[in-house]
Amino acid sequence: MPSRRFFSAILAALLLALIADSALAQKPFDDPVLERMRKDIFFLAGPECEGRGVETKGIEKAADYVADAFKQAGLKPAMRDGSYFQPFNITAGVKLGAPTSLTLLNSTTDVTKELKSGTEFSVMGFSPTSKANAGLVFVGYGITAPKLKYDDYEGIDAAGKIVVMLRRIPRYGEKGEKRFDTNVATSDESEYAPFVAKIENAVAHKAVGIIMVNDTGAGPRDPLPQFLNHAMGTEPAPFPVMFVKREILDPLLASGAIRTVADIETLIDKDLKPRSFEIKGWKANAEVTVERTEFKCKNIIGVLEGAGPLADETVVIGAHYDHVGYGNFASLGGPSAAGKIHYGADDNASGTTGLIELARRFGAMKNRQGRRLVFIAFSAEERGLFGSQFYCKNPLFPLDKTAAMVNMDMIGRTKPVPTDWLGIGEKKDRLIVYGVGTGDGFEKLVDLANGKTEFKVSKIAAGSGPSDHDSFYRKKVPVLFLYTGTHGEYHRPTDVPEKINVPGMKKVADFVQVLADDLTTRDKPKYFATKDPWSDPTETRSPRGPSGPKLGVLPDYMYEGEGMRLEGVSPGGAAEKGGIKDGDVIVEIGGKPVKNVTGYMTAMSGQKAGTAVEVVVLRKEKRVTLKVTPE
Ligand SMILES: [Zn+2]
Repeated sequence: MPSRRFFSAILAALLLALIADSALAQKPFDDPVLERMRKDIFFLAGPECEGRGVETKGIEKAADYVADAFKQAGLKPAMRDGSYFQPFNITAGVKLGAPTSLTLLNSTTDVTKELKSGTEFSVMGFSPTSKANAGLVFVGYGITAPKLKYDDYEGIDAAGKIVVMLRRIPRYGEKGEKRFDTNVATSDESEYAPFVAKIENAVAHKAVGIIMVNDTGAGPRDPLPQFLNHAMGTEPAPFPVMFVKREILDPLLASGAIRTVADIETLIDKDLKPRSFEIKGWKANAEVTVERTEFKCKNIIGVLEGAGPLADETVVIGAHYDHVGYGNFASLGGPSAAGKIHYGADDNASGTTGLIELARRFGAMKNRQGRRLVFIAFSAEERGLFGSQFYCKNPLFPLDKTAAMVNMDMIGRTKPVPTDWLGIGEKKDRLIVYGVGTGDGFEKLVDLANGKTEFKVSKIAAGSGPSDHDSFYRKKVPVLFLYTGTHGEYHRPTDVPEKINVPGMKKVADFVQVLADDLTTRDKPKYFATKDPWSDPTETRSPRGPSGPKLGVLPDYMYEGEGMRLEGVSPGGAAEKGGIKDGDVIVEIGGKPVKNVTGYMTAMSGQKAGTAVEVVVLRKEKRVTLKVTPE
């Protein structure tokens, strides 16, 4: 043990080092490039921008700053109206309001039956505030499948009617030759099974409402789906979508040998012949009131046109500029962080700074040849990649002519790591590059880029992952994603610009410049789907949360449904001990709904290691409640 004097000398030295360290990070750089990048990140991650939460005013200041920087760099506004802003809305909260009702009426008998919400019918989350008062047509499974020579709407006039249909597809769960859709391995994978497909088909046939009913595969309990199950992040249908208990519909459909809905299902499944008909004499009167809160968001998009034979094609460079604001959503800082600005310097003022820097460099080039460069600062990434998803649904330049997308998210915290596995040799700055398996030639391209920057690069094939490149990868655009690793300040108020490694961040920009130079001029890279799941070598625990209670699960980032599907469960981990299995979809933790991976992280940040919590999973469409003790 050191003497007191020695100890206090150490303390003093430590203190000095701390002061010197933070002073160093804030002191202006002599290098003009470092200095402008330092200024960018200190503004974007400064108090004025309020952590760039989509609900804050501060994010507007950040957006103006980025747009202004694009303009200064000589980028053209991408929107037809001459603006850099691509606006979109996201659903932030949703609630079923009043009046909401469903009444069945028989015109011949004058029978009127108002159904009880929650036990006899439920409103599906796809519904907007809307009304429908119309006659009923039974349309089997509501499927039109020319490929399979099957059409529930054949010879049926559904225009102006409320269509009544079975859930899922005929012969659900059947294997081998007996399956309805032999183009896919399982019934769930059929393109005709999802609710959204049935809704779109009903819209195409000019229906004015949907009454859905479980097929017998749902089991004898005949559960009604909850409104919230499909209320977030989905485009609502244009009319009421209701779910009704089978026993309510049985008497409406009964005629002759047919006594129940299940009887019709059996007939259709037997010979795969549609059995659709008008439900004579019956009408339904539906009214739905939905209270939706929306946030107005915007992507910021600037363009540098290319030249030569490839000028018609595009390379996208992107980074999200939003963060979690005051941490009311997705904070990992626990109760003490509530209401504090989460500056998001690394996540992702760093990537945004890199984006601006690259815009300046490419904007300053004269007679640049090759593809068009499109610079996009995405919003609402933290809420679930909404900005990039919106761009990919509404691309300003065709995605089939987009040769590649390069994403930067958290590029400000590189640090030297050993280059040999023993950890005794030379150290180099760490950089993780994802998507190396998504385009041909990417492996070599990454080596080429690193020739100048000399990072210790971890190359990962996966194209999916928890950032905006994921949205492009799903649209079959080859992607590369740069990331310098997670840290203890991730999604906490302590992710401040003072802790950013500005020279390291500049080096990542140098790296991306080489990538972009090459990608704008090479033959269009072929797209490959990758098998490997996302993994983070800087984070031994999953997902990207650095500490806190863990269940020991690996999320499936390709999953598009509600909740978080598990690609794997750690052997001997908390989840496995509690009975959670591969393929389960976590939909609720401790009474809080889990919509996606971010929602999972938020729910877990409120848990305590060693204290059991109720976790609800969907297993083969059934809700299973399990007690799990996080570790
Ligand atoms: Zn991020």
